[in-house]
Amino acid sequence: MIPYGRQEVQQADIDAVVEVLRSDFLTQGPMVPRFEKTVADYCAVPHAVAVNSATSALHIACLALDLGPGDWLWTSPITFLASANCGLYCGAQVDFVDIDPRTYNLCPEALEKKLLEAERTGRLPKIVVPVHLCGQPCDMRAIRALAKRFGFKTIEDASHAIGGRYLDRPIGNCEFSDITVFSFHPVKIVTSAEGGMALTRDPVLASRLARLRSHGMTREPSEMTHEPDGPWYYQQIELGYNYRMTELQGALGCSQMQRVDLYVARRHELARRYSELLGHLPLTLPWQHPDSYSGLHLYVIRLRLNQITRTHREIFEALRAAGIGVNLHYIPLHTQPYYERLGFKHGDYPEAEQYYAEAISLPMYPGLGDAQQDQVVAALSTALNS
Ligand SMILES: *Cc1c(COP(=O)(O)O)cnc(C)c1O
Repeated sequence: MIPYGRQEVQQADIDAVVEVLRSDFLTQGPMVPRFEKTVADYCAVPHAVAVNSATSALHIACLALDLGPGDWLWTSPITFLASANCGLYCGAQVDFVDIDPRTYNLCPEALEKKLLEAERTGRLPKIVVPVHLCGQPCDMRAIRALAKRFGFKTIEDASHAIGGRYLDRPIGNCEFSDITVFSFHPVKIVTSAEGGMALTRDPVLASRLARLRSHGMTREPSEMTHEPDGPWYYQQIELGYNYRMTELQGALGCSQMQRVDLYVARRHELARRYSELLGHLPLTLPWQHPDSYSGLHLYVIRLRLNQITRTHREIFEALRAAGIGVNLHYIPLHTQPYYERLGFKHGDYPEAEQYYAEAISLPMYPGLGDAQQDQVVAALSTALNS
């Protein structure tokens, strides 16, 4: 089976991890700070806080922005569960904004319309989470303008997007948001096995994120509410978690970051090949915004169902049967049973549902060879033409 995504691990990565195993620190040593500095420098942002997953990063990002009961978090229905669940972890309520049919990202016009409505009913969101789906940046300039006008905070879920650029700035640079989150899960662009990171320009948010990652405790006398008893002293000043990344993960992440540009360049090469080879088929191919350089975590095609005799599911099954590990990113969140129990229903977000009825993610990862890619294309042509 050719998978839809796969990590690429080289000898240098293995050596870096083994070196940590022989060192004094398996956790809370020098490698995680080094990984943070590597990513922060790469993104030209002053602060980066590494955690054990992007899900944890989203959770503490919401907490650091004071999300709580009575508040609303809005995101796109076409994303992984974690982009919305982070709001529920904080006791807030979640709502969705439909997608733009061209980019599949949260639609700024739909966002504005919903904000105007929410202003009337007094239910403005405290946080909006734009998701850079497939690595393609959202229209952050428009979202930033709405954030200023309506007074919400922005967390970019850039789990798909490290190595990409928006208006010639690295994604993660936080010029248009309060916090940006990356994932280092093995299918993503670079991996630390499990891992995530929250980036920000705000030093106060950064120290809060670091504290929430580790039980809400501080060893910084200036943050303590009373005098330390002695040099051993630490104080818990709020409720935090153990969301720490290990040194092994930090070392793997540092080593992988050396190749982030190569990885994204290879993804672009593969995307160009796909687009050339698939151009004549009854498909809508991914559209790339001219102002941005996508991380290209995913290559999603949409079936033009009115030009095809077989169903979406039949095509999907035919590809799987041919050994192509296609996938579907994502099932609209509002149709998940848990979210249905919160009151959402089919029909709420028509663009998201239309996308879901047509989308298929083709294999896309740096180790995918041209010959394997040709195999994917051949299987897809056969499936569409039979
Ligand atoms: C993968 C992913 C996450 C969660 O990442 P983890 O590191 O696995 O917690 C969140 N949001 C999106 C859009 C993702 O793709």
